[in-house]
Amino acid sequence: MQTNHTRKDREGLLLGNARYQGSAVHPSRFPPDEGAEVAFAGRSNAGKSSALNTLCNRRALARTSRTPGRTQMLNFFTLDDSRRLVDLPGYGFARVPEETRRKWKRLIESYLSRRRSLKGLILLMDARHPMKPDDGQFLDWCAYHRIPVHVLLTKSDKLGRGKQHQSLRVVRAGLLGSGSGAQLFSARDRTGQEEARKIILDWLSNPTPGSRPDGREDRKDIQTKKPRRV
Ligand code: GDP
Repeated sequence: MQTNHTRKDREGLLLGNARYQGSAVHPSRFPPDEGAEVAFAGRSNAGKSSALNTLCNRRALARTSRTPGRTQMLNFFTLDDSRRLVDLPGYGFARVPEETRRKWKRLIESYLSRRRSLKGLILLMDARHPMKPDDGQFLDWCAYHRIPVHVLLTKSDKLGRGKQHQSLRVVRAGLLGSGSGAQLFSARDRTGQEEARKIILDWLSNPTPGSRPDGREDRKDIQTKKPRRV
């Protein structure tokens, strides 16, 4: 019992260890693909930085991701010598030039399809506007690459109880059959913090360094499903 307790305490502290490791726009500059990592993704302004900061109990951890020049990069945060969190560039800005969109898509698809240490992805959606077409497209990619996804419906403090649950129902209906889960989350009042941490820590404790949890194959030679038209 003592051992379990100690391990649990250590894991609980793990996210608090997060520290900025570096940013990259090309797979050749990513940290070595070893150990375990969990990525965070979502539409711009969905509350990704606030969620990262809250979950890691740090005020400005994700501020580094917002430094000019880094918003279109993958930002890596180390937790210990074999585990990381990754902040993926936000998507869904209406007025982004087509070329930027194409670059984002190439970068993200390359990451999702090849990153063997990626154990799971936290997808953030504003609870007031869930399941936008871009979110659907992102979920399609993750399903295709068999990446476990957990959705955080952010800013839930902005909704009354009825609307919160309506939002949750819409998202769960959209995820039906995919194996992905969803929950309410608020960086402001800390709703859902422990539930989200538990999912992340479970993924990070996957004991097979350097290999995907479900034996997915490396798909670099296969074209991904045509994205939904937005
Ligand atoms: P990002 O672009 O996805 O990283 O989003 P941010 O974390 O920067 O959040 C976007 C805006 O939403 C900011 O003004 C935040 O203060 C606000 N925000 C983020 N999380 C919450 C939350 O849980 N509750 C409320 N009320 N506002 C939030």
